[in-house]
Amino acid sequence: MNQALQTYGQPKMVTIKKIVQENEFVKTFFLDVSLGVKAGQFVNIWLPGVDEKPLSVAYDDGSQTLITFYAFGHMTKKLFELSEGDKVGIRGPYGTYYTWNKGDTLVLVAGGYGAAPMYFVANEAIKDDCKIHFVVGARNKDLLLYLDKIEKLPNVELHVATDDGSMGLKGYNTEILKDLLAAGEVSRVFACGPEMMEKRIVDLCSEAGVKSWISVERYMKCGFGVCGHCCLDDSGDRVCKEGPVMSGELLAASPEFGKYHRDKVGKKVKL
Ligand SMILES: Cc1cc2nc3c(=O)[nH]c(=O)nc-3n(C[C@H](O)[C@H](O)[C@H](O)COP(=O)(O)OP(=O)(O)OC[C@H]3O[C@@H](n4cnc5c(N)ncnc54)[C@H](O)[C@@H]3O)c2cc1C
Repeated sequence: MNQALQTYGQPKMVTIKKIVQENEFVKTFFLDVSLGVKAGQFVNIWLPGVDEKPLSVAYDDGSQTLITFYAFGHMTKKLFELSEGDKVGIRGPYGTYYTWNKGDTLVLVAGGYGAAPMYFVANEAIKDDCKIHFVVGARNKDLLLYLDKIEKLPNVELHVATDDGSMGLKGYNTEILKDLLAAGEVSRVFACGPEMMEKRIVDLCSEAGVKSWISVERYMKCGFGVCGHCCLDDSGDRVCKEGPVMSGELLAASPEFGKYHRDKVGKKVKL
């Protein structure tokens, strides 16, 4: 498939081959197309007559694309109601992706549905002989995602934290990151999850002198750098184009990251 055509063309209608219900609010769709997505990139999913929204890719194995999403608002709740055999529109892939060096020791920190795109990263990085600490966090054990899949990956050590202590460490997953950074030998830290978690990760990594790369979410419309809706203060970097994977250094310098974002009409909303 011609990737450039796919990126800037009309959405392509694809079939949902399989659906897995991960928990009460989260489903994974297996779409019958590969867009050659790199781990960390996103696609725009279109429901005709409803809306089009960005979703990270949870896996692309060269023949199918997986998306894992939370039934959150008007579009994702409609998406949640679809059945196997139904069609959705897809365009992309868009944005930056995660990179590493062969043999790196990586810490992947995931909160909520962030476990899905981080699973894609782990899958790719182990092919480059990376050793991985995969830190997953959620409010309680029922909301933890992808644990069974992560446990099956070679060279990956799983760490779990829950706010209520129903599984793993009682507290935030960033406490586990803190211990891993103190133990040393961490080449890079990657994170995807709630922005307050990501902000803490940027701060911890900066104190430890370790590079961090973070998946940033902003309200976005076009997905390929034209509309300007997702620009970050003050640098103006577009989250859809210069992101969504952005360096911790860039984010630490932003007065916006970890403090506010903008809603669909561009009004500031405190996090
Ligand atoms: C790069 C990227 C990757 C994403 N990956 C995933 C994913 O893998 N899985 C997943 O479940 N979700 C993901 N999201 C979030 C997903 O796009 C939103 O949950 C979705 O847009 C909500 O749409 P909705 O119509 O259901 O909600 P709406 O009814 O439009 O909104 C519900 C509420 O969420 C706010 N909101 C909506 N979209 C955003 C946004 N992008 N940033 C901040 N606030 C927003 C609205 O202002 C409103 O308050 C990603 C977002 C981005 C930008």
